[in-house]
Amino acid sequence: MSLPFISGCSGRWCSGFLLAAFLFAAPLSSQAEEIIVYSSRIEQLIKPLFDAFTKETGITVKFTTDKEGALLTRLLAEGKRTPADVLITVDAGNLWEAARNGLLKPVTSPVLEANIPANLRDPQGLWFGLTVRARTIVYNTKKVKPEELSTYADLADPKWKHRLCLRSSKKVYNQSLVAMMIDELGEAETERIVKGWVSNLATDPVADDTLALEFVAAGRCDVTLVNTYYYGRLMRENPALPLAIFWPNQATTGVHVNISGAGVTHYSKHEAAAVRLLEFLSSEQAQKMFIDLNMEYPANPKVTYGEPFTSWGSFRQDSRSIVKAGELQPDAVRLMDRAGYR
Ligand code: FE
Repeated sequence: MSLPFISGCSGRWCSGFLLAAFLFAAPLSSQAEEIIVYSSRIEQLIKPLFDAFTKETGITVKFTTDKEGALLTRLLAEGKRTPADVLITVDAGNLWEAARNGLLKPVTSPVLEANIPANLRDPQGLWFGLTVRARTIVYNTKKVKPEELSTYADLADPKWKHRLCLRSSKKVYNQSLVAMMIDELGEAETERIVKGWVSNLATDPVADDTLALEFVAAGRCDVTLVNTYYYGRLMRENPALPLAIFWPNQATTGVHVNISGAGVTHYSKHEAAAVRLLEFLSSEQAQKMFIDLNMEYPANPKVTYGEPFTSWGSFRQDSRSIVKAGELQPDAVRLMDRAGYR
């Protein structure tokens, strides 16, 4: 690096200046070992992971949590001036949207490519899945026999009339499921199925997965679709509830899975440290912490898990690229609207 403004310095003054410049530069370079994360995951679910990362690497992590929409809007508005290095959010649809808006930068990392299966990350390295969230059928064990269940599509059959509860179509979870159904079955058949779901509803669509489970447990409906960690949390508090998991589509696509994931922001000024955080989050140590913190499945297939997962049984996951859930999400939203799914 040239320092033209001190050319012409000489003697003690000059060496004193250089020493001062050196001392001043030292804290600057250690300051660079700090990264800023925008996260739609709440503090309790991510701070322990950041603390473990700092312990291992010495890189400190500052973070802001907010709803995914607010974080994307903020990144767009901040543009080049954003202080954020990493975006962490849930659902491939949100990550896909961030990538489409140019908010993420491609990352090449042999560590991430080894730890995260290709179907759970963006092909250009714009984002990587960190946990897997299985969206499955949960039923009331007093009212339904598992032999009666088979696929997501079968919940449109008239035999489920007034027996189905669904979360609101406004939440991205069922939007992603419907997007993957469009990929599998085409728009016309998927629309027929979603209309069937709507005509089988026992109640108006509910605000969240936990409420849907509580309605099934209380007998207000017999069957619903939820992410397994909501089931896990509710059963931990209330093991006697008459609820059980059924793994649908085992003879076809496999269980619909989505991700929580992360990407390096397009204007990150600390790219190497940001990539290191992503690599750490894909490691065995961090993946086990994700499991413990929120009962999500690891994205890294080398990571093993025990209870409560083992008692839920093993299942075949959908292995299609989760990118499709993002690409087809606008079509899914329009389709759900046409089908009267609110
Ligand atoms: Fe959730």
